[in-house]
Amino acid sequence: MSVRGLRKRACCILSFQSDNTVRHTTLQLEILPTSAFSLIVAVLLAGLCAAMTSGQAPPPKFRVIAIAEKGGVHQQFVDAARIWLAREAAADGFSVDYIENTDKIDEAFLSQYQLFIQLNFPPYAWKPTAMRAFEKYIETGEGGWIGFHHATLLGEFDGYPMWPWFSTFMGGIRFTGYIPTFATGTVAVDAPAHPVMKNLGSHFTIENEEWYTYDKTPRPNVHVLACVDEKTYSPMSITKMGDHPVVWTNENVKARNVYIFMGHHGELFQNSAFTTLFHNAILWAHQ
Ligand SMILES: [Zn+2]
Repeated sequence: MSVRGLRKRACCILSFQSDNTVRHTTLQLEILPTSAFSLIVAVLLAGLCAAMTSGQAPPPKFRVIAIAEKGGVHQQFVDAARIWLAREAAADGFSVDYIENTDKIDEAFLSQYQLFIQLNFPPYAWKPTAMRAFEKYIETGEGGWIGFHHATLLGEFDGYPMWPWFSTFMGGIRFTGYIPTFATGTVAVDAPAHPVMKNLGSHFTIENEEWYTYDKTPRPNVHVLACVDEKTYSPMSITKMGDHPVVWTNENVKARNVYIFMGHHGELFQNSAFTTLFHNAILWAHQ
């Protein structure tokens, strides 16, 4: 076989690096035109190059489904969350899909996702199929869960009964009240070694929150990660519950789960303590 019988063909190879950058390499392939094997290799490589240069993004490291409360007083929080989550997803290499009601939720639907985020959205008026699928998802640890604010609106609301399983999931609590005029408060970190509380120090400030109260502290049934210090309320409020957890995880289910009470105003996404907490929760809970 003479060297002159060889042909050179350039082919690009794109490889995805661990830091999400793409490395581009040009290979000079030597191809024997008479060799069927070489032709097959050339065709396969050409197809690979075409696929890789057509703008396909690398597959997401994990997939998130977010149920977003639509309309009402929490729309601003949900809108800000969507913007922040888009940036976060690009930086951390995950994808986010959104739903605004529970119609699609069943076991097959949830099986596509490693993390379920409840952007407010109360725990009532869910379709029965969605309730059963969600309970199984959490109990078997098929995926993780992060819930905000309205996710503990546990009681009888808008003509719907309380979802007892969800109350147990949240530590056996029932919603009793809130501060409708808002108060700024200091949140004290109970579990500084927990991954969700990483880089948060011993305490941080949350401005203008509603600080829901419950019929009892969930502490006996959950692992409390942070509490609000009611003595720091500004302005002071008589709506108090004593031991007042605001971030916790229920370790009696297999799913990694975090409830974060804060979540009324969109301005929370300008508070680095809040975004650190949300970021930590995503990285921990999806595993
Ligand atoms: Zn609210």
